[in-house]
Amino acid sequence: MDIQVLGAHDCESQNSKLVSLLVDDVLALDAGALTSSLSFLAQRKLKAILITHQHYDHIRDIPAIAFNLFLQGATINIYSIPTVYEVLATHLFNGRIYPKFMESPQNNPTVRFTVIEPGKSEQIEGYTVLAVPVNHSAPTVGYQITSPDGKVVFYTGDTGPGLADCWKYVSPQLLIIEVTFSNKYEEFAREKRHLTPGLLEQELTIFREVKGYLPQVVLVHMYPEFEKEIEAEVAVVAETLNNSINLACEGMRIHL
Ligand SMILES: [Zn+2]
Ligand SMILES: [Zn+2]
Repeated sequence: MDIQVLGAHDCESQNSKLVSLLVDDVLALDAGALTSSLSFLAQRKLKAILITHQHYDHIRDIPAIAFNLFLQGATINIYSIPTVYEVLATHLFNGRIYPKFMESPQNNPTVRFTVIEPGKSEQIEGYTVLAVPVNHSAPTVGYQITSPDGKVVFYTGDTGPGLADCWKYVSPQLLIIEVTFSNKYEEFAREKRHLTPGLLEQELTIFREVKGYLPQVVLVHMYPEFEKEIEAEVAVVAETLNNSINLACEGMRIHL
């Protein structure tokens, strides 16, 4: 399994892109940086996009990629929870902001949306996909992806603390999890349901208690302003837990 980090942040600038991951060139996790990172050819290779939740930084490039694929006569499969469907249908593909690509062209809509049921394994393009609810300010699911050769990654999407239940259902070799703020903003992070390095440490400690091991950990969704601080604080957590924890960056490739 080859994972490419297209976007690793919660804010976009010249040097940072919104969160988006690409698995083996065919499966995208969240859509914050799909069109801005992928050539037209690479966009056409995409078979499915899994969306964790409705927030703008995670769905931003869906209209843009739909438009590109529509012009090429191609289609894209999008999988997510019902709230994401509602947001796309009501606010983006509504015939005002953008064409109704979930209904048109009439005989072959550009966007084929499938509602995914948390807790139920699905076969998507040869991968086994399990959606697991996490704790965020909008309904959100993380995705565990198992490749045909048995490689397993779990991507949380945005989440605050309280993942003990979630850990029961996943057994990843690689955990891609968010850390948005540095430790001094813990209260704010709790309120907005995000993580800090300190909160991450608690969640990973619970993971180890529940599962008896720790996976390789890669962090995304950092607020660029705090990245240096987050990096220093995460280094302490990695040492305390004696485990590999790295901050993702745009263009990073992880081979499992
Ligand atoms: Zn969010
Ligand atoms: Zn976000």
